[in-house]
Amino acid sequence: MIKIGFFAIISIRGNKMLKNKITEVRAKVSAWKKQGLKIGLVPTMGALHDGHLSLIRKSVETCDKTVVSIFVNPTQFGPSEDLEKYPRTLEADLKMCEENGVDLVFYPSVEEMYGEGQNTNDFFTYVVPPFFYTNKLCGKSRIGHFDGVCTVVAKLFNIVQPDYAFFGQKDAQQLVIIKKMAKDLNIPVQIVSCPIIREENGLALSSRNKYLSETDKQEALALNKILTNIKLCYNKGITDVKALSETAFAFLNEHHELEYLEFVDRSTLENKMVADDDTLILIAVRINNVRLIDNCTIT
Ligand code: AMP
Repeated sequence: MIKIGFFAIISIRGNKMLKNKITEVRAKVSAWKKQGLKIGLVPTMGALHDGHLSLIRKSVETCDKTVVSIFVNPTQFGPSEDLEKYPRTLEADLKMCEENGVDLVFYPSVEEMYGEGQNTNDFFTYVVPPFFYTNKLCGKSRIGHFDGVCTVVAKLFNIVQPDYAFFGQKDAQQLVIIKKMAKDLNIPVQIVSCPIIREENGLALSSRNKYLSETDKQEALALNKILTNIKLCYNKGITDVKALSETAFAFLNEHHELEYLEFVDRSTLENKMVADDDTLILIAVRINNVRLIDNCTIT
């Protein structure tokens, strides 16, 4: 249950760019398309920060009209994950969208997106990406996560029918999988990859950073330090992945629960034993039970 104040509800309801219904979105977009306008889509789960903003800005710069979707998608959360407590900040999100040139915010209910399917998952049509892409990295611990992601993104592509869709490199595995899905299913959309936005101290921005205490945030700097140090070692000539992985231990302590540190090909996600210039380094660490991810290319 989302708790918002009475005046917030009034101002949110009065917001002209906010649409809850698929039919409203289709009508607006089809009118724009008739005028020959290019549509950009930025899919999000809300709790917007400067990382999301960089995607929005790129869309506003590239397209005539920008649609932002805000939907905390239940099908991409596992039963023991943070669906209920995921941060929801609609009023602030709308303000951010308004101030940055967004034309339409699609904020559907779970019922609007999944209809009866929300209670009958077994009878709902899912988009299931190839196992090769999902049985590693985040997919290993988040079983079914990318089925939920692909299903909701495919639905958003069908609803909005954007010319361009903007995704962050922050979720590198998701980006590769969505590109693959769009290609395999002949979805006529150009996927645009946007760089990771970080705090000055190197911490990658994430809606889940809201769960971190100040001490946790200091501990979280280890992720970027590990990645930066591996880049440094690679530039000095070390290419053996085992040797590169071992350098991480210097930055980890009892507050860090390392889930994975992997080296893969940046476009195919194929694992590497020996790093080369196409290698992407990805890391996932739990700090006080908050799961954080980060990545960078090795060059
Ligand atoms: P989310 O709301 O977490 O589902 O993220 C929505 C989009 O924002 C995804 O494409 C993310 O990869 C992207 N994103 C999240 N954090 C960042 C960041 N720090 N820098 C760039 N993009 C980001």
